[in-house]
Amino acid sequence: YEPDLYGQTGKSEELYLQAKEVIPGGVTANIKFFEPHPIMMERGQGSKLYDVDGNEYIDYLLCYGALILGHGHKRVYDAVFQQMRESGTTIFGTPHVLETKMAQKLVEIIPGIEMVRYTNSGLEATMLATRMAIAYTEKPKIAKFEGHYHGGTNEFLLSVNPDLSEAGSETEPKAVPESKGIPDYFRQNTIILPFNNLEATEQILRKHKDELAAVILEPVQAGFIPANPEFIKGIRTITQELGILLIFDEVKTGFRMSMGGAQKVYDIVPDLTALGKVLGGGFPVGAVGGRKEIMMISAPEDGKDILTTGSKNGKKEVLFHSGTYNGHPTVLAAGLATIEVLEEEGQMDRLISATHMLRNQLEMVYAKYGFDMQTVGMGSIFNIMLTKEPIQNYRDTIKANAKIRKEIDQKLLRLGIYTKPLNRYSMSVVHTGEDIARTVEAHETVLKQLRR
Ligand code: PMP
Repeated sequence: YEPDLYGQTGKSEELYLQAKEVIPGGVTANIKFFEPHPIMMERGQGSKLYDVDGNEYIDYLLCYGALILGHGHKRVYDAVFQQMRESGTTIFGTPHVLETKMAQKLVEIIPGIEMVRYTNSGLEATMLATRMAIAYTEKPKIAKFEGHYHGGTNEFLLSVNPDLSEAGSETEPKAVPESKGIPDYFRQNTIILPFNNLEATEQILRKHKDELAAVILEPVQAGFIPANPEFIKGIRTITQELGILLIFDEVKTGFRMSMGGAQKVYDIVPDLTALGKVLGGGFPVGAVGGRKEIMMISAPEDGKDILTTGSKNGKKEVLFHSGTYNGHPTVLAAGLATIEVLEEEGQMDRLISATHMLRNQLEMVYAKYGFDMQTVGMGSIFNIMLTKEPIQNYRDTIKANAKIRKEIDQKLLRLGIYTKPLNRYSMSVVHTGEDIARTVEAHETVLKQLRR
């Protein structure tokens, strides 16, 4: 590869080469890699990241959306240190009051949540929700939408196939393993649905209704492609009719579309909700919330065998859910502080209007230089799509010009705008008008060079 493309990240490159010796690809998640080499960060502050070479970046990745208050927010820091100081420990390993406090908060603000269980990641939350649905309905399969991400486990990693070579037709997508190491038999238990196509989805659901425990979806795909309101309302109605549970994966959309998640915006109550990211205030977290009747399957009480695992007389009495770090007090302290800040008067509105301001200004600059471009998004997340074609689902995203977008993003990095090339833009409450102006200016500089 071309070494030190940016001419200003020599130290990053050197450290990357060292990392590569002991970490495959030099990254701890494949998505963190980009060419010519990922940039090693050393410090964060507010809306900014600083790399090991001393370059400053306005951060729009924000740890894939998790850092809604930006880097090192004082209220989060204070809450975390206070929690550790006053309790005298990092974690109890027993029940504690913050678990209840956070659960009460989630029950209060998120329509579909009546009870809560914690996990340590979004992936674990979607896995737990799926297990609950299978246990509750006593049906074996789940359905997910093409291109929707619910974490990288075998049951979910089945629907991204960029050249569509094995993906089936638009109205009847097929399960395709997205990774090496996923045994072929996983395809049999996951049904793939076409997002924002109600008619085709309904047909598939009716066909498989007797074996489907749940439909899981991102109400806003990848955080930026909104479900059409009639579509998502239709899905709620059909799933209810067919005895299939509806799981909203709000790991990305939670606290980012509104305080009550995307479900509040759409005015739809799912049976189960998976949360993560913002909920942990920058620490690893996940949670499943939902209808009491379903959630209670995991409760080791009410005359059920107190064993939390295994079976008795051939019957399993409780749904297994465990995790050494579940409900981590330090994490919940950070999450509660984050929610408190977000709940302040006008905070969420300001965040969302700042996001719209950036979107509008970017659209104007791209138009000025003759690019076919639109921003697609909702709430405090959006993406830049280099096409005028409508973006409604995964297959539509393939039509956008990714080659030029990547080139733009790499040039933006050099100018101090951090998005991992081709990633979405997430905003924080600490991004300022000046950040927005600088971001638009950097785009203008790049687009001028690449003008059509
Ligand atoms: N679901 C969605 C919608 C997500 O965006 C993500 C993470 N990007 C996950 C699940 C998985 O969360 P985690 O990375 O915390 O396991």
